Amino acid sequence: MPIDEFKIINKYFNCFKKKDKYLIKGIGDDCAIVKIPKNQTLSISTDTLVEGIHFLKTISPIDLSYKALAVNLSDLAAVGAEPKWLTLSITMPSINLKWIKFFSKNLIKLIYKNKMKLIGGDTTKGPLSITISAYGLIPKGKALFRKGAKIGDLIYVTGTLGDSAAGFDLLTNKITIKNNKVYNTLVQKHLRPIARILQGKILRNIATSAIDISDGLIMDLKHILDSSRCGAELHLENFPISKKIKNNFNKKKWLKWVLYSGEDYELCFTIPEKKKICLDNLMKFCNVRYTHIGNITHLKEGYKLLEFQKSIKFNQTGFNHF
Ligand code: ADP
Ligand code: MG
Repeated sequence: MPIDEFKIINKYFNCFKKKDKYLIKGIGDDCAIVKIPKNQTLSISTDTLVEGIHFLKTISPIDLSYKALAVNLSDLAAVGAEPKWLTLSITMPSINLKWIKFFSKNLIKLIYKNKMKLIGGDTTKGPLSITISAYGLIPKGKALFRKGAKIGDLIYVTGTLGDSAAGFDLLTNKITIKNNKVYNTLVQKHLRPIARILQGKILRNIATSAIDISDGLIMDLKHILDSSRCGAELHLENFPISKKIKNNFNKKKWLKWVLYSGEDYELCFTIPEKKKICLDNLMKFCNVRYTHIGNITHLKEGYKLLEFQKSIKFNQTGFNHF
């Protein structure tokens, strides 16, 4: 798109004129230049969303802007970073100004809301896809990793599990529900995930490991276990599962969503037992649920799922056999 590319960038995306003391150059040159504040480290996350693979063809530009930003912010949240800047690459089959207007307007609103700045990107022609790279700051030595969980640590998750997957199945007509309110809530959970930025920052001084749940609890917690060389024992009866899915769908369905379906974008993290009071004190100001779902065990104990002490068979690689 050689002719209109620059007009589009200037009209729809180049609206972060006010520099801050750490942003030396934003949109408009060959590179963006940022200065990393003293005693901070830069965390970088990139995610590409491709039409038909990561989002449905029917998605609205507004919902797409939510999702494209949230998936990146969720990665920053998982390491405890404070979001600062982002770059945006858009590939689109043709110039649809109405689409670009809705997409950019909402994206910019969300960028401001997160106190971030759009500092560069790329605009090209091709099948619709959006790539955002998000950059965040973390005080030196405070980043959270998948590695670090210790035997005896408590395993927690934020929010609820499985709602996003239920929303996806509703959107794609795999399931139906008569209650409109529940339908809308579940679909919203899928289309507009909320990254747990504040919770990630709180966890900097508490958690021994963390990950965001993008591929399903079983698979994402497995990354923590593999990196930390530990086992885990999970207690299904304690899982945060919304009444919306528990009361409206059979257990076979919701269990599959809760264990294996991704895109909840909640945080899964581990803390030493002695930090529990500290966690409670800090989290109570967040107004977001957080739930103790199990414990870290010795590697040789393996990966176990129990319901009221009864062992439940599950597939560790994330695919269901129900
Ligand atoms: P170059 O050819 O040097 O890579 P471009 O001509 O692609 O630069 O882009 C010009 C400027 O516009 C650069 O600063 C680039 O980062 C920015 N830019 C391009 N596309 C976007 C976009 N979709 N959103 C934000 N900034 C963009
Ligand atoms: Mg250049």
